[in-house]
Amino acid sequence: MTIRKFFRVPQGYKITRVEETVEDEITINIEPYKRQKGICSGCRQIHQDTYRGTRIIKARDLPACGKKVYLNVTKRRYLCPKDGKLYIEEIDWLKKKEDIPEGFLKRYIA
Ligand SMILES: [Zn+2]
Repeated sequence: MTIRKFFRVPQGYKITRVEETVEDEITINIEPYKRQKGICSGCRQIHQDTYRGTRIIKARDLPACGKKVYLNVTKRRYLCPKDGKLYIEEIDWLKKKEDIPEGFLKRYIA
């Protein structure tokens, strides 16, 4: 199934894997390109040298093709030099609190 062509991924991100986990569910794995640096959610700056690995954020998308759609989005973590705390990068197309995309498919469907 070539579901990839139905999705237009936000700039700076790529679909790495599409899985049909259960019969009526699709999980899409999305990762940032390395050349695009993450934005610290603590201070909104880009930190070059304080990268501290990644974390997978699960989000539910709008249904597509009669299936439930889930996103596994890889977010990067940074140690913020301003207050010394760990922050997960901010992604503007994911809602801040629940990390559920705002009409991801609606906005990015080709
Ligand atoms: Zn910061």
